[in-house]
Amino acid sequence: MYMKICSRCKHNSYSSFEFGSWECPSCKYDITDQNKFMANRNFVREKLKLGKKIITLTLRKSEFNSVV
Ligand SMILES: [Zn+2]
Repeated sequence: MYMKICSRCKHNSYSSFEFGSWECPSCKYDITDQNKFMANRNFVREKLKLGKKIITLTLRKSEFNSVV
């Protein structure tokens, strides 16, 4: 999974394709030549106590570890 940040509208976009053209899904700007990042999406589980109830939240956490 790769991620790019649009230089025009700062919208994050994700793609699993390494090659080919890439346009911003938000403003349709061509961001093919911009830096792309490896995106790892991790799921984080958190337990919260609300009074007598315990609820489990599953949060999706994104982290970007390297510039490709
Ligand atoms: Zn954009």
